[in-house]
Order: sequence, then C-alpha cells, then structure tokens
Amino acid sequence: MTEEKKSLNFIEQIIEEDLKNGYKKEDLKFRFPPEPNGYLHIGHASSINLNFGLGLRYNAPVNLRFDDTNPIKEEQEFVDSIKRDVEWLGFKWEKECYASDYFQQLYDWAVEMIKNGDAYVDSQTSEAIANQKGTPTEAGKASPYRNRSVEENLSLFEAMKNGETPEGKDVLRAKIDMASPNMLMRDPIMYRCVHKQHHRTKDKWKIYPMYDWAHGESDFIESISHSFCTLEFLPHRELYNWFVNKVSKPGDFQPKQREFARRNLSHTVVSKRKLAQLVEKNIVESWDDPRMPTISGLRRRGYTPTSIRKFAESIGVGKRENMIDLSHLEFCAREDLNKTAPRVMGVLDPLKIVITNYEKDEEWLEAENNPEDESAGNRQVPFSKELYIEQEDFKEEANRKFFRLKLGKEVRLKNAYIIKAESVVKDEMGNILEVHCTYDPKSKSGSGTEESQRKVKGTLHWVSIKHAVPSEVRLYDRLFSVEAPDADKEKDYLEFINPDSLQTITGYVEPSLKESKELDQFQFQRIGYFCVDKTSTPEKPVFNRTVTLRDSWAKQSN
Ligand code: ATP
Ligand code: MG
Repeated sequence: MTEEKKSLNFIEQIIEEDLKNGYKKEDLKFRFPPEPNGYLHIGHASSINLNFGLGLRYNAPVNLRFDDTNPIKEEQEFVDSIKRDVEWLGFKWEKECYASDYFQQLYDWAVEMIKNGDAYVDSQTSEAIANQKGTPTEAGKASPYRNRSVEENLSLFEAMKNGETPEGKDVLRAKIDMASPNMLMRDPIMYRCVHKQHHRTKDKWKIYPMYDWAHGESDFIESISHSFCTLEFLPHRELYNWFVNKVSKPGDFQPKQREFARRNLSHTVVSKRKLAQLVEKNIVESWDDPRMPTISGLRRRGYTPTSIRKFAESIGVGKRENMIDLSHLEFCAREDLNKTAPRVMGVLDPLKIVITNYEKDEEWLEAENNPEDESAGNRQVPFSKELYIEQEDFKEEANRKFFRLKLGKEVRLKNAYIIKAESVVKDEMGNILEVHCTYDPKSKSGSGTEESQRKVKGTLHWVSIKHAVPSEVRLYDRLFSVEAPDADKEKDYLEFINPDSLQTITGYVEPSLKESKELDQFQFQRIGYFCVDKTSTPEKPVFNRTVTLRDSWAKQSN
C-alpha cells in the first residue's frame, strides 16, 4: 500500500470512488450543520475536523449551516458561540447558512407536494398517529385523513401556516408507505405547529419543518455533494433521498448522505441536552466551565486548537461507535503544550525555607523560558533569603530513593543554587514551620564555575517569598467519577458527578506572571500546565490547571 492509500479513511474512500466514477472535483462541497441549541462539544470537534478537513484536502468549500428548525430550544447566544468555536479551532467556512433562510422555499415545495398528492394534513393526536405506526414486522394503519382532497389539505395547511391552527392539532405528513419496512417511511411528519418566536425569523412562521424535511433540502439548495452525519441517521437515508427526489428534477444534482460513528469521551457526556442540564442545575458554572467537554470549556481550561484538532485527527472516523479515554485528550494537550508553553515556577503547597548564609538582599537570576524552543528566550527570576518550596519536596528523613530535600543532603534549586538542609524549626505540635538551609554561592546555574556543573540528584522549583504573587489556582479533575455516566439506562447520569472535580487553592507564583493575560499558558515546572482564567487580574491572578505533567490516573491504576 502506498502512503496515500494507507491514510484514506472510509469517508475519503467514498469520495475517491465518486471521483473515479466521474464526479467532478469542482463539485465537491461539504457542510457542518449544528443545531444552535447549545455549545459545541468535543464530539462536534470530530465532525468539524472531518468536514473542514475534507474541504482542505480537496480544496472544496465548506458551509457552516445552522440547523435552526426548532425555536423551542434555539438561541442567538448558541449561534454566536458556535461561530466563535469553529473559528477558534482554525477553520474557515465558505458561507454562513441557516435552514431558516429556506423556510419559504420549503413551504412552497410542501404546497407542491400537497398538489401532487405527496402530502396531507393529519388531524389526529400525536398518540393516535404513533399507535397507527405499526412495528417493524407489522404494517401500520392509514390515517382516516390520508385521502383528504387537495383543496382541503391546502386550506388546512394554509391555516397552520397562518397560526390559525392550535399547536398540537394538525400536522403535515408525507404520503409514502404505511407498510414500508423502514418505519421512518410510514408517512413521516413534515411540519408541526409551533407558536414560538424564532431567534431569526421572529413571529413570521407558525409552522416549523422537521429535521428530515429540512436537512436534505438544505443540502440540495446549497449543492452539498456529501452530507455526513452520525450513524443514527442511517435509517433516515431512504427518507432523505425520497424528499430530495420530490424537490429535484430528473438530472438535477443529488446530495449524498453518508454516516460515520459518533465519538464518545470517557468520564463525561457529549450531548448538548445533557450538558445543558449541568448548566441549568448549577452543577457547573457555565457552558465554558473548564470542566465541561465543550470547546469553550476546553479553551478556558487551556487546551489549544492544535491539541483538539490533533485529538480529532488521531481518533479518526469510524463505522462503529466507541469510547475514547479522556487520557488521550490529555495526552494531546501535553504534547502540544510541551512545545509551546513557557516554563515558570509556582509553588502550590508552600513550605518556607531560610538560607541562613545568604547575605544579599536579593538577586535576579537568568531562567530559560522553554528548553523545547530556543526562540522563547530567557527571563529573570528573583532569589532571596526566604523561599517557598513544595511541602512534599522536603522530608526530615527519607530513604535513598527520595531525591528531594532531606536533612543533611543537597538539592539544586532550579535556575539557582545548590542548597543543603541543616535543621528544622517546629511549632509545639511538631509541625515544621521552616527549614534552615545553607547554599553554595559558587554553584549558581549557568555561571560556568566548576560548582555550577556539580551534579546533585534532585532539582526543585521554588519562589522567593517576598516577590511571590499569591494566586488563585483551580485544580480540576474529571467531572464524572465513572467512565460512561450515561450508559446505565436505569440511572440518571447526574448521580455520577464527581464531587471533587474542582479544588481551589492559593498558590505562589513568580512575579513575571503578573503581566499575563487571559488564555496565556504556562508550564508550572514539575507540576503541570496552567492557563490564565478570564477572571484573572494583575492583583489577583487566577490560573486553571489544564492538565498535570503526567497522567496521574494511569499511575493509580497500576
Ligand atoms: P447533541 O446530541 O449533542 O445535540 P447533535 O448530533 O444533535 O448532538 P448537532 O448540532 O445536530 O448535534 O450536530 C452537528 C453535527 O455534529 C452533526 O453532523 C452530528 O452528527 C455531529 N456530531 C454531534 N455529536 C457528535 C459526536 N459525539 N461525534 C461525532 N459527531 C458528532
Ligand atoms: Mg441534537
């Protein structure tokens, strides 16, 4: 197999096949069709990456289409957030389209269908309609209204359109086949009455098209060549084609629906409806809460567009639904941030150390911003007699495997000197208040002396107490404590919320971080990747932990 062949996924194979069979490359056109009823989530990233990725691969246009056919759940806020997120991921759409822009055209087509005997108004209750549907092995029953005259249908449909018909009374149904083995073909509903303001068309419409009667038609209007949707729409394909056939003329171009598997992420839910519950019930702060698997939550958490695109790319498209472990997403974040995030020092659980033989008031030491990126340059960090290190980096006594600070032993302070722990000061309860150390003045990092090259086993991060900036640090963990919170149909997924998904602490960071602004990312050395929250101020910086340096969950399960 050639490189090229190996990398073709089954969707690309479908397109290649079409091109081989005479389809023109200039006619390729795709769309990403979210419903503006919530914020985009990591599952959508797969669909975005697929559709916009095909656009890039084939140099073909990709429309951003809002599937806004249900005014009950849709809002302008969601439209705005979806545009922001797709843009932030780095993709450019050809046209911004709305199914609602096609309402008049859809209505005109529906009138034509009534005239042609392909649609009728059913005046039964939704229960009665459901009861007549039959089962996959048993034909349905025809509605007593199935053979209404064209005139009666036209006038009833017009009354629906004018808002004269109460909600829930009449519906328009396609007249297809009540005995079809495909239940969706048993006279599906095309329109229902909804007397609610639409975020774009306002009060103009009192009837709204159903998904099946809007989606393929929108694809047809926009000349979308390949319309990719998730697998649950496979049985809808027959209806998609039936409707497109009704509105097109022989020889017209036909859009093609093809299906791929939904991607699920572990320890969370990827469904706008379920995510909306978390927001409405105040379980999370907002749609962009950094624990949310939404694109906006991930952005606020510190994920980069590159890491999300890499994630989507690496899991690819498939024909079978599967669960991707959250640790894979975290891996993608680490991989990208390792290359791009400047290194800084911050202490999250401080222990005071005093360098008893340090005579100067302070000095500023040179520190490398990113060993992975020379162009990132250096910065100055202040050093003084009193410093913080992490509590866990000191023990009075420890075995030989403890390469951090212990009494009588040396460690290097990152970018600074080698110190040796001499004694501890305790309170009457026996808690360590401070550790007294001495330092080797000749051991300064980068000073070129023999001592500066001297190797000691451990290197610790630290901050100078008088220069450190107290900051709010938000440590996030998985939002759900089980892998598949919505897998158990007997239980509500909200029962599996992890009560410890957010821990807020005060950390002490080097003063260079005062200047940082929203979304700036850093590696707090030896701890993890952190990102400046939108609520941060120079007086009170706020950092979100994106991800720890290593996968701490993997360690626990070993
Ligand atoms: P939700 O249930 O979260 O509302 P949806 O499928 O109803 O999801 P839409 O806004 O209608 O969301 O979806 C836009 C596109 O994104 C569709 O083509 C849909 O199939 C795709 N999509 C949604 N969720 C996923 C997922 N988890 N994996 C892959 N594609 C997805
Ligand atoms: Mg939906």
